[in-house]
Amino acid sequence: VSSLPARCRTFKIIVIGDSAVGKTCLTHRLCAGEFPRRVEATIGVDFRERLLDVEGERIKLQMWDTAGQERFRKSMVQHYYRNVHAVLFVYDVTCPASFRSLPAWVEECRQNSLGLDIPRFLVGNKSDLRGPVRAEGQVSREQALKFAEAHGMTLFETSAKSPANSGPKRRGAGEREAAFQ
Ligand code: GDP
Ligand code: MG
Repeated sequence: VSSLPARCRTFKIIVIGDSAVGKTCLTHRLCAGEFPRRVEATIGVDFRERLLDVEGERIKLQMWDTAGQERFRKSMVQHYYRNVHAVLFVYDVTCPASFRSLPAWVEECRQNSLGLDIPRFLVGNKSDLRGPVRAEGQVSREQALKFAEAHGMTLFETSAKSPANSGPKRRGAGEREAAFQ
């Protein structure tokens, strides 16, 4: 116990976005370092944690992986946004509809964040499926950057399926991403 850093700060992060964009896989990758073999559809909210040591300080990321079902969401949504430190807005780069839904998710955030200026991140997932073969019908990086800028967000394109840009085991980080740019 004595070897643990003296301080531990917890950050609550909520993961928001349309169904099937990969919110559960992303949080699993981030917290467990792997792509889950199988995922169940999330009901309500799941919690996962990731511990980080940043300059001798222990940081705990508490990820709230949410689901979009109306009947669960209505009663829970205020809890999601309470004392939140950051919001991840996730879309699927191969699913423009999930990108078009973002304004509704931004509006939900606005309505529930009590006017606080919470750090927000735009996360374009499934970047492993992006390639020259399927270029049309995808969300371009330019489109996403424009949206991120307009809403004061930082953009990341990620893949829960590849180790790039994610997870405790960061072998080969960035390689895969770079190949598609
Ligand atoms: P959620 O509803 O947003 O939580 O989405 P899930 O995490 O349940 O993922 C939905 C589907 O997308 C599953 O079949 C996953 O295997 C798949 N998936 C999630 N992330 C990725 C990714 O980065 N790349 C690929 N190719 N598939 C993914
Ligand atoms: Mg889920």
